[in-house]
Amino acid sequence: MTAQPFDLAEADRRHVWHPYTQHGIAGDPIAIARASGAYLYDTNGRAIFDAISSWWVTLHGHAQPEIADAIAEQARTLEQVIFAGFTHEPGVRLAAELARRAPAGLQRVFYSDNGSTAVEVAVKIALQYWQNRGERRRLVVALENAYHGDTFGAMSVSARGLFTDPFADHLFEVARLPDPVEHDVVAALERLIAERAGEIAAVIVEPMVLAAGGMRMWPAQALAGLRELTAAHGILLIADEVLTGFGRTGPLFACEHAGISPDLMCLSKGITGGFVPFGATLATEQLFAAFRSEDRKRTLFHGHSYAGNPIACAAALASLALFGDRCAERRCTIERAHLRAASRLAALPNVSGARVLGTILAFELGAPDRGYLSGVGPALRTFALDRGILLRPLGDTVYLLPPYCATEDDLARAYDAIAEFTEAL
Ligand SMILES: *Cc1c(COP(=O)(O)O)cnc(C)c1O
Repeated sequence: MTAQPFDLAEADRRHVWHPYTQHGIAGDPIAIARASGAYLYDTNGRAIFDAISSWWVTLHGHAQPEIADAIAEQARTLEQVIFAGFTHEPGVRLAAELARRAPAGLQRVFYSDNGSTAVEVAVKIALQYWQNRGERRRLVVALENAYHGDTFGAMSVSARGLFTDPFADHLFEVARLPDPVEHDVVAALERLIAERAGEIAAVIVEPMVLAAGGMRMWPAQALAGLRELTAAHGILLIADEVLTGFGRTGPLFACEHAGISPDLMCLSKGITGGFVPFGATLATEQLFAAFRSEDRKRTLFHGHSYAGNPIACAAALASLALFGDRCAERRCTIERAHLRAASRLAALPNVSGARVLGTILAFELGAPDRGYLSGVGPALRTFALDRGILLRPLGDTVYLLPPYCATEDDLARAYDAIAEFTEAL
């Protein structure tokens, strides 16, 4: 008997449940066979420019040889070991390296597997910190239009809406500050503190960009104001840098725009260069000290099976080693190209709010505020895909967030496709 050829599309239709996908509407997904640099190649050999870094993870480029080699070598040496009671060189080296490069004071590194868990850990550390100190501070403060992930704690601090509605009555309550793009968020926190100062455990923010909430870029001055105010009242500040970390907004971390150090910082997405799932939560020594004790009840009882996975740590170290002058130049090239494109796009009839921060370009298409389910996004996505460009608008918000190896030619093709689509609207 000869083996049946494998029908990928048929088996996918039959067995796979894809993320953020309405299978009742979605067509067959595109099967990708391999990737290199800024390009994905489908099973027919067609090249697709990955203008969104495959959901914001790919950092230097797909299949970057230095990272691939580091992973292969680590996999042959030590692929995994329990991280409680045991340790290993890539895990310790990475913690030291993150502590060295992060904003001052973030000296302790707790590993997990993804962005949502990095946020869960930060929120749990913040709440237990006050518990361990014997103070009743239980309230977490978050921003309107925030997105912090899809697990329950992360959903609780994220904006409520389409994504969270089915679970609304199972999410813990948080206090909301208004969207910092349109409102004085520092004044709002001041008012909240005046009412409930002694109850507030922590404020969590996505520094500089509310990303999944629509690439909403907010002022560094407001971020600095939040830091000043939280510090003055002993309130913890959690910076969710899951998207903004590792150079996406220009500097290595978005907190650097405001020259601030948070008490906790969440990292994931680009941390391994986009090769393997991984997360890290960085904390100050002051937080760590509140858990260190002879009393077992003060332990942080949290840990994932793959915490500190050596392969992920090796990938992250290899990715960090690529952050030299060349990487900075590439990020600058992307930012300059984005800035030129933003002024060109802003002149088009159906474009509004064109904005750039580092390697991120965003704008709104057509009538504003039609939400995540707006039809214009999917239409542009299809139009761009037909031209070999991967875009995935967030409702009416179109953005480019390319890997750092993207060339000016790659970007120009994407800008041109967007302009062509927009003019035909
Ligand atoms: C994507 C994202 C998360 C969630 O990360 P996952 O790895 O998808 O769980 C959390 N915070 C921010 C700011 C993000 O952009």
